[in-house]
Amino acid sequence: MLVDTHCHLADAAFAGDAREVVDRAEAAGVGHVVVIGESRAAAERALALAESDSRISATAGVHPHVAGEWDGESAAWLAAALRHERVVAAGEMGLDYHYDHAPRDRQRNALEAQLALAGSVGKPAVIHAREADDDVAAILRNHPGTVAILHSFSSGPAVLETGLSLGHYVSFSGMITFKNWLQDDAILRVPRERLLVETDAPYLAPVPHRGRRNEPAFVVQVAERLGRVLGLAPDEVARLTTENAARVFGHRVLTAPRSPTSGSLP
Ligand SMILES: [Zn+2]
Repeated sequence: MLVDTHCHLADAAFAGDAREVVDRAEAAGVGHVVVIGESRAAAERALALAESDSRISATAGVHPHVAGEWDGESAAWLAAALRHERVVAAGEMGLDYHYDHAPRDRQRNALEAQLALAGSVGKPAVIHAREADDDVAAILRNHPGTVAILHSFSSGPAVLETGLSLGHYVSFSGMITFKNWLQDDAILRVPRERLLVETDAPYLAPVPHRGRRNEPAFVVQVAERLGRVLGLAPDEVARLTTENAARVFGHRVLTAPRSPTSGSLP
């Protein structure tokens, strides 16, 4: 069984068929999905999905694109949300200096505050990093007590080496199946007990699904590619990455699939 540790099933792209998508994932051997809440509204949808289906867990946080919204009220909301049993991580949070949708100082403030909150409740932080390597590395070093997951990893050595030195997890997405992926050395550098796989659906569909809406079932192709780089059979990749997911997110992500006729996803 595989775990898709990062997908956006609360996105409008899945508004009509989230349940069918999770059924297809289960049929493909993906027994659990972590649905990312990257804003207050998305987190509330993610939690509603998690509460209606044991195969789903949620996260709650504020993405750097909307970090301009971060204020004291968001902090109070997030502190409460992170105490929910179905919310297994904080985030996604981070810095994105490629799009700069929020001012960089607001992005840094929101990231610092969320890392501190995650650490205070003992839940991991899902990190988005784009073209902000030095600042991401410095801020991670400010919060050594918060476990981080470097999601859809494609950063440079400053982020990777800082993350590994702090014992953080590194999650690879469909990007590792792309022709222009040139960072197999990063995959090999991560200790096996820190490797995770994800889709980041609906974005970044892996080969051979490129150009389509991505979905959690396609984490199978990410795991296959990871296995080819590491010299591991698919069942070994599944066992390894699922053990890692259970260690970092908690054993909820091992929840046995319920029968496909019960539950009430929209
Ligand atoms: Zn994401």
